[in-house]
Amino acid sequence: MRKNINLVWFRNDLRVGDNPALFYAAEQGAVIGIYLEPVEQREAHDDAPCKIGFIYDSVNELRKKLNKLNIPLHSFKVKDYQQSVEKIVQLVEQYNTDGVYFNNEYPFNERNRDDELEKVLLGKGKEVKRFDGDVIIPPNSVSTGKGEPYKVFTPYKKSWIEFHKTQGISPLPIPSKQDFKIEKQHDYDFGHDYRKDLWPAGELAAQDRLKEFLPKAGYYKEHRDIPAVKGTSMLSPYLTVGAISAKQCIESLLEWYEGDQEAFYLDTWLSEIIWREFYRQIIIDNPQISYHLPFKKDAKEVWNGQHELFEKWCQAETGFPLIDAAMRQLIQTGWMHNRLRMNVAMFLNKLCLIDWREGEAFFMRHLIDGDFASNNGGWQWCSSTGADGAPYFRIMSPITQSQRFDPQGKFIRKLVPELASLNNKDIHFPTSQQRKELGYPEPIIDYKEARKAALALLS
Ligand SMILES: Cc1cc2nc3c(=O)[nH]c(=O)nc-3n(C[C@H](O)[C@H](O)[C@H](O)COP(=O)(O)OP(=O)(O)OC[C@H]3O[C@@H](n4cnc5c(N)ncnc54)[C@H](O)[C@@H]3O)c2cc1C
Repeated sequence: MRKNINLVWFRNDLRVGDNPALFYAAEQGAVIGIYLEPVEQREAHDDAPCKIGFIYDSVNELRKKLNKLNIPLHSFKVKDYQQSVEKIVQLVEQYNTDGVYFNNEYPFNERNRDDELEKVLLGKGKEVKRFDGDVIIPPNSVSTGKGEPYKVFTPYKKSWIEFHKTQGISPLPIPSKQDFKIEKQHDYDFGHDYRKDLWPAGELAAQDRLKEFLPKAGYYKEHRDIPAVKGTSMLSPYLTVGAISAKQCIESLLEWYEGDQEAFYLDTWLSEIIWREFYRQIIIDNPQISYHLPFKKDAKEVWNGQHELFEKWCQAETGFPLIDAAMRQLIQTGWMHNRLRMNVAMFLNKLCLIDWREGEAFFMRHLIDGDFASNNGGWQWCSSTGADGAPYFRIMSPITQSQRFDPQGKFIRKLVPELASLNNKDIHFPTSQQRKELGYPEPIIDYKEARKAALALLS
């Protein structure tokens, strides 16, 4: 009798551990792994070159791991999602597989692509098996008392925890070794340069980073807002490409708490992972977000047309040391600390009055962890247009925030070395004389005036 054989289409799940599509396909018989790089779609989605390079290396690391299980991984170039569907159908026919297994992606275009593939393959009598490998609790598992989707984080989180407690959700193991001979594997090279010293690719590197972070988990709440301290996990690029799953992360956190559920469910880091799930649910429930529309239908839009302010922000030349340090961190490393993401986003949107979508796209073009749901959620939170967004009058002062979260200017000194000689008071906002002497630009806005204008516009 012919053995079962299935394609596993890898996308943002570049791992062998806790990969439901891979695990269940391997239980059925032989597996052929496929990765498709949608070149034009990436451009349309503003994906950063550093992120694309990181994905390429992660695919190569995945191939090594799969090959040890006797599973081949072929990678191909496609133009866009339409061509992805055609390519998968062609491969199903070429390898005469029983069907295709994959883990769901939640943005609108991706869901449409997957629905289309399912329709075509079912029409050809093939099997399509879809899983939820990118989230801990499956989408739509929780809803309000009225059966409606949540729009506010805290009640969502409460229900999320209740669901998690009752379901006992644990990560899946690595599948067992296959009885399959690997022949030539197709490799499409889409490598790009990025900071490989900061972001070594692959599942092992992600697991190492998690192990490095866990002993610091107890200090997370205290340290997570201080950009000069390495107080957060820096796992976001790995979660974005799926080199590690959110389930694996929190399972290790629970182990770190030695199974103490009460302490675990109160943990601040867990809460951040739940924000990630919340924003995924938001984009599922609100497809307008994928059309660049705000979550709040009556949201006030701002765009003052001062393109030069946007340019200065992009070039890290705003004359506000914390903002410039943050933007340099993004440009130099592909990553930015969360406290700083909030600061630069509010600065651009509320103080320079530039449309949040400009900032959202710029972030995507530079972030190694660029993730549509979290990036959009973050930008809409900061600009008060989003689900459970900051109130319109919450405008972070780039000077006060700098004094509070970088009191000795350690972070600024590292990223803006021309200001390193200033004392701990002046470094947050140098005088005109100091700026002239040190070759640092004048502020592009008057903070107090800009704040007044924003409040008048947004109230
Ligand atoms: C304007 C703006 C844009 C953002 N863009 C992205 C993005 O493109 N990709 C991205 O992964 N995160 C984004 N975030 C969320 C957050 O800033 C990053 O996830 C975090 O800084 C990553 O660092 P870390 O891995 O050390 O996080 P940790 O603090 O260690 O948190 C662990 C994980 O939880 C998740 N997480 C943490 N905070 C958030 C949050 N506020 N929202 C959603 N998930 C969160 C991430 O997956 C993160 O890796 C954005 C936030 C803002 C304010």
